[in-house]
Amino acid sequence: MYLDYSATAPLASEVLGVMMPYLTQNFGNASALYSYGQKAKKALDSARLEISKIIDANLDEIIFTSGATESNNLAIMGVVENFENKIKEINSREAIIIPVVITTNVEHASVLSVLKKLEKQKRIEVKYLKVDNSGIVSVEDFKKVLSDLEKENKKQNIALVSCMAVNNEIGTIQPVSRIGRICKKQNIIFHIDAVQAFGKIKTSVENWKCDLLSLSAHKCYGPKGVGILYVKEGTEINAQIIGGGQERSYRAGTENIANIVGMAKAFQISENLREKEQEKYEKLQIFTKEYIEKFCNFAIWNGAEIGEKRVKNNINFSFSNSEKNIKISGESLLMRLDIQNVAISLGSACSAGMVAPSHVLLAIGKTKEEARTGVRITFGMSTDMQELEIALSKIIKAVHTLKK
Ligand code: PMP
Repeated sequence: MYLDYSATAPLASEVLGVMMPYLTQNFGNASALYSYGQKAKKALDSARLEISKIIDANLDEIIFTSGATESNNLAIMGVVENFENKIKEINSREAIIIPVVITTNVEHASVLSVLKKLEKQKRIEVKYLKVDNSGIVSVEDFKKVLSDLEKENKKQNIALVSCMAVNNEIGTIQPVSRIGRICKKQNIIFHIDAVQAFGKIKTSVENWKCDLLSLSAHKCYGPKGVGILYVKEGTEINAQIIGGGQERSYRAGTENIANIVGMAKAFQISENLREKEQEKYEKLQIFTKEYIEKFCNFAIWNGAEIGEKRVKNNINFSFSNSEKNIKISGESLLMRLDIQNVAISLGSACSAGMVAPSHVLLAIGKTKEEARTGVRITFGMSTDMQELEIALSKIIKAVHTLKK
């Protein structure tokens, strides 16, 4: 019983179908001029066109990467480096200007780690927007940070705003289109990590008014190790992987045609099924919440209530409860369930293995102990009610055994 679709999803069979020819007979290098190469190039171009249409972008605004970790790195490092170069050009003899990046304290590690590194190197100053108890960033706070920076005469130092569309742990939906509109008005580059949004809510660079947007294929039934960075025409970023000039020199390296073709198919499938799937997930989500609350009166719901501020395939509960002095080891719970073939996640998959409390759950006001045992259940295409009910009964049983 696989209930960890936000960590990764299995490859859809149609996706494998379209990938196979590019793993076998059509193996050409897209840069080669003979027909092997041209076949690969054609596949690359049509995947790019397909993906650009799905997110309301233009064809040449899509850069293929090895996944959203790379896309997020490229977006942040690319913008900051470019900003630094401009400062050097304009301001060579004047006071040192430190670029400012505004983000939230619930971003994925592939955003936060890059920012922390640059901060440590004293190359940027980061303003972390706090979130409320349901995990949502306040647009008013964002406006306040902007006006404070203006008062400090640092407005022109803002290099980037980066905010995820949907949180990977608690599924809360951020007001990215409102933030995007403010950024656009004030000419600030806006990046969205939309990995957990795609296929769950309409993902449109046009509606969200962003300049950069990261997506990953493996969260939506595509292959692992491939993603995109959308770069709005006119947005200046410095390449981070340099070499053969592929991807208009934004990202060098021989393109992984099979993965890219698979990603385009996966995005197509996810987008086509999106509305229908969400209806199904809504029922599963309500059922799961009620089930856990009924059979475990100390479980703590994490994140926004079910409704428009949360994606429908996400459930997050802490089974430790500090107020009631109940401590349950999240790792033991996961191991017990694993033996019974139930796969759920503790925090985000990327930080699993570390016993550290989830930074997202801490940010929404949970205690350290509670933040250590945030259990995430995420549904996907093949999750059904019957399977879910069996899994939930095993989860509840394991929780009560561990409590004793
Ligand atoms: N951002 C978010 C919100 C994610 O959930 C993930 C995957 N855990 C990533 C970025 C990184 O994506 P990838 O696995 O493609 O590197």
